[in-house]
Amino acid sequence: MKLFDVYNLFDVTPVKGLGTRVWDDKGTEYLDLYGGHAVISVGHCHPKYVSAVTDQLGKLVFYSNSVRNPLQEELAEKIGELSGYQDYSLFLCNSGAEANENALKLASFHTGERRVLAFKGAFHGRTSGAVAVTDNPRIRAPFNSWHEVTFVDMNDIEAVRDELSKGDIAAVIIEGIQGVGGIIIPDDNFMRELRVATEDAGVPLILDEVQSGYGRTGKFFAHQWAGIKPDLITMAKGMAGGFPIGGVLISPEFEAVKGMLGTTFGGNHLAMAAAIAVADIIKDEDLVSNALTVGTYLKTRLQALSDGAPASEDNATLGTRGGTGAERSEASGGAERSEASELPGAPSDHQPMIKEVRGRGLMTGVEFDGPVAEIRKKLLFDKHIFTGVSGKNMIRLLAPLVLTKDDVDIFIKALEEVL
Ligand code: PLP
Repeated sequence: MKLFDVYNLFDVTPVKGLGTRVWDDKGTEYLDLYGGHAVISVGHCHPKYVSAVTDQLGKLVFYSNSVRNPLQEELAEKIGELSGYQDYSLFLCNSGAEANENALKLASFHTGERRVLAFKGAFHGRTSGAVAVTDNPRIRAPFNSWHEVTFVDMNDIEAVRDELSKGDIAAVIIEGIQGVGGIIIPDDNFMRELRVATEDAGVPLILDEVQSGYGRTGKFFAHQWAGIKPDLITMAKGMAGGFPIGGVLISPEFEAVKGMLGTTFGGNHLAMAAAIAVADIIKDEDLVSNALTVGTYLKTRLQALSDGAPASEDNATLGTRGGTGAERSEASGGAERSEASELPGAPSDHQPMIKEVRGRGLMTGVEFDGPVAEIRKKLLFDKHIFTGVSGKNMIRLLAPLVLTKDDVDIFIKALEEVL
């Protein structure tokens, strides 16, 4: 049997990982600035993680959600403490899309409405509801197209208020920082206005922190930069060191009704052991602070490489980007692309240069004035550094939160040599 061929693959076969490094089947070492797409938060195969998962494997891998599982309660306690959301409750599932699906469903149960307000350039996953609120018709099948969704421009509070005033909105969903859309940081002030507008309208605000959460931006959740508290928060990638998992944080205003949500695998014992180990490591090693310190250093060094970009620390750490959602959506292809999809592109006639560096913590976008395919190819095959991409012109860096300044120096030197 062949694999269903939907991914553009790098011609690299990782077989081992440790910290910020992976090794391929020929023994070549790579620096991982992609973190397996923001998944490897505490670094590859952290010894405490390996020991916790191995230990659990020898005890009990799975039992269903029809019996008590104290590991779930332990994880909820730890996430409450790390995030500051002790008064919220936790629903566990298996992926980012599933977390969004459940959050949308909860909001719709709560309001009795069906139309959802989402943002241009958004990516929320590939299941039915999640793909419907994703701003990319190319990955939406006719079967997914009956959902009622309205997309508005990022940072356009008037458009949001207009839609809310129609009185038929079930939820507003927004990413803490748009990742696939090209590291687009919603304006902090817009986020505060959005919170007030949704509260006034009695419409649940869903923060998709699947990519931007779990310490990546230097706060536990990216929306905490704006000081707001959404009604529902979704998370997944960085939660369990590569073990599939997702979760929804649910504010006390939502009443749990038996049977309203459910999953076979969500919250299983092995996933819990993995997620508890990750939560412990994030706390013990103060990785949220490390993400901010090393992420700031990375942006500062990247900006120094770039002639045109403003060099102030503020812009490096807090920079936002203008432009309409439509422009950005087009720039990124509006799509969650396979990460290798831009790699084999033809060399362009001029060497692209850095145009802008933006992001928060270790969620970093390096936008060039031309396609980055050749640059990424050289970084991977000549310098042995994994990077991600958004659209054609942006290198997206989602390094493990254990990244060091020495790792950054290695990358900057390599990038300088490649440019
Ligand atoms: N939401 C965001 C912001 C994402 O970046 C992604 C995946 O990249 C998802 C949701 C979907 O997560 P998953 O692939 O785990 O379903």
